[in-house]
Amino acid sequence: MTWPQAAALSHDMPVVVPVAALEQHGKHMPLFTDSLLCGEVIRRVQEAMKDRVLFTPLMWLGNSHHHMDFAGTLSASPRLYLDLLIGLADNLITHGFRRIVLINGHGGNIVPAQQAFFELRQTYRQRGDLLLLSTTYWTLGTRTGPIDPSLKQTQMGHACEFETSMMLRIRPDLVGDYKNAKDIPWGKAFAPASRAWITRDRTEPGHIGFPQHASAEKGEILFRAFTSDVVALLERVIAWDGKEWDA
Ligand SMILES: [Zn+2]
Repeated sequence: MTWPQAAALSHDMPVVVPVAALEQHGKHMPLFTDSLLCGEVIRRVQEAMKDRVLFTPLMWLGNSHHHMDFAGTLSASPRLYLDLLIGLADNLITHGFRRIVLINGHGGNIVPAQQAFFELRQTYRQRGDLLLLSTTYWTLGTRTGPIDPSLKQTQMGHACEFETSMMLRIRPDLVGDYKNAKDIPWGKAFAPASRAWITRDRTEPGHIGFPQHASAEKGEILFRAFTSDVVALLERVIAWDGKEWDA
């Protein structure tokens, strides 16, 4: 797109900023897992929504300091990452856009993404026409049970049955020996309190969950479920009347 083409876009068009990470994903999955998987969800969403939504390129650098004990992890520190997200969304507001949606594909970005948009809303507190949303693609579903009966996991882990299946679906050449990756449960972590943690506290190989149950077929099921969740959200963003809180 050229800048005159960007200037001609409707300012009511939702702008999606995909955000992910580059960090360790166990001994059997590549460092770029989150960016590859989030990128594939976004590619499918884009195919479904055509030019009704504007997509920026995916931001691959995330907040992954909890994985820094593992070689290869690249991370923006939390405060830097907050400012990066705020600045990026602020650029879009400067260009006139009013509906900005962060679609995230990495656990460590969840809190910073919410905080960044919360702060930005305070900065533009006089504006009634801004919709600043952040979400993570695997948290959108309203399902009460498992996504599919074939899945052993009911929630996202790390380099787990979900992520390994999705990678087997799109880039099996990048998946190592997942069949011998042992089960690593999530643990309760002092619930319902939130315990501060680094990844090494929870796992030696780096994954959390049950990777050995992964398959490409499950990967396709997961991509379809997550894609339709994101599309459903974006339809609501398009339909928003600019006023209603619950619309
Ligand atoms: Zn991941």
